[in-house]
Amino acid sequence: MTKQQNILIIGAGLCGSLLALRLGQRGYNVTVMEKRPDMRKVDISAGRSINLAFSDRGIKAMNLVGILDKVMPLCIPMKGRMLHDVEGNTVLAPYSGREDEYINSISRGGLNELLLTEAEKHDNVNIHFNKKCLSVDFEKTTALFKDYDTKKEFIEDADVIFATDGAGSALRKSYYLGKKFLFSFSQDWLSHGYKELSILPGENGSYKTFKNALHIWGREAFMLIALPNLDGSFTVTLFLSFDEGEYNFNNLTTKERVLEFFEKYFKDALELMPNLVDDFFENPTSPLGTVKCSPWHFKGNTLLMGDAAHAIVPFYGQGMNASFEDVTEFDKVLDEGHQDWETIFKVYEANRKKDTDAIADLAIDNFYEMKGHVNHPNFREKRNLEMAFEKEFPTEYSSKYSLVTFNEDIGYRDAMLRGRAQDKAILNMLADGTLNINDDLKSNLEKVTTETDNILEDDRIAGLKS
Ligand code: FAD
Repeated sequence: MTKQQNILIIGAGLCGSLLALRLGQRGYNVTVMEKRPDMRKVDISAGRSINLAFSDRGIKAMNLVGILDKVMPLCIPMKGRMLHDVEGNTVLAPYSGREDEYINSISRGGLNELLLTEAEKHDNVNIHFNKKCLSVDFEKTTALFKDYDTKKEFIEDADVIFATDGAGSALRKSYYLGKKFLFSFSQDWLSHGYKELSILPGENGSYKTFKNALHIWGREAFMLIALPNLDGSFTVTLFLSFDEGEYNFNNLTTKERVLEFFEKYFKDALELMPNLVDDFFENPTSPLGTVKCSPWHFKGNTLLMGDAAHAIVPFYGQGMNASFEDVTEFDKVLDEGHQDWETIFKVYEANRKKDTDAIADLAIDNFYEMKGHVNHPNFREKRNLEMAFEKEFPTEYSSKYSLVTFNEDIGYRDAMLRGRAQDKAILNMLADGTLNINDDLKSNLEKVTTETDNILEDDRIAGLKS
């Protein structure tokens, strides 16, 4: 396997442009085909969400390619969740008891543009825009494209093809339709969709509400969130059922009903959003789904990565971070020095799939947590206890959220197993009185750790038996 090999990457989104940069740094000949115009030259809406929560797994990938110093100026730290109740009262719930653990709001477009520019600095990386992949012949390792400039179709040949073309991947469709091997595929839609709205900047680019938090208006059946942008605005997202409940996307059809809904449930947000009605009717409503599939590769010819392999719902703020981590993990396998792509792809998938399955499940769990649980007294009591553990015993305890978000050196699956066991231990012991908030913190930590280990051991034995 020589570095002169021609690698084709389909899709220059967040994952594809990072992968192109990394493989370019490693010396491969990389061609990237992207269906949209070059976002650095044409003002296109960045796509599915204007800003994203960027955290430690993403940071690790930026460090791998040596551009973290260029990424950080695009970031706004969000120290915790700013919870807004129906009366408009707010409370800031930190993400961690450790001061240095927080997430960042980052512009999707800004980050994608930076990655494209960094990738193109390598002479061996060529990115072509307006080229839509129609299908992939994974046996011949060729892909069929439509060129939006010339209106012609053409076939691109490569030694190996990576598909980073997002949740609607053309390669994944070709695997499925090709029926040449056993390909498992599932797509599960949430009952809720989302719509992006906005809080515009205040005077001179000031922020109309607290800048350094991820704002949440959780209302059990639906929720609103807002993340800050560098220009003083916030991107607001409404998550709401398509067709259930008194208010849903299908029946919010008039200006009056939209205002009535916001007046009733999001009054303090509405006061910051004089532009609400225009945003509501101009912006699309989009579905949210989870994609799982396997295998990700066909022999040593083709590989799915990023959302193309594992699209998840956005409630853990990890889809992009996981897609970036794909590149970090793939790079590790390249370092192992395997002699052929098939082995590399096999090892990568065997290492990685359990973790992307886990973050998919965790993201669904967090949908329920953000909508409602964050408002419940027992959830808050648990969080307060965990904050205190993290503050007082920073090297001994990490909550599930911290394990997933700030512990980039453990996989999502291990974070999920330990995190869930801890949650169960604390909630059970709070419920039966074994754990008393007023007891000494150290003894509470010992009780939680012992009970967590017992649960993990029971789960392990149950897993062996099943
Ligand atoms: P994409 O970003 O979708 O990129 C795919 C690229 O391929 C695009 O450039 C597309 O134009 C191109 N393409 C598609 N089809 C073709 C084709 N046929 N031929 C050629 N090119 C093609 N993640 C987080 O980590 N934090 C968050 O806070 C967060 N919030 C989110 C909020 C919402 C509402 C949504 C929907 C997602 C959110 N995500 C978040 C997830 C994140 O957006 C994705 O996980 C991430 O964009 C995946 O990157 P990707 O490169 O795999 O796919």
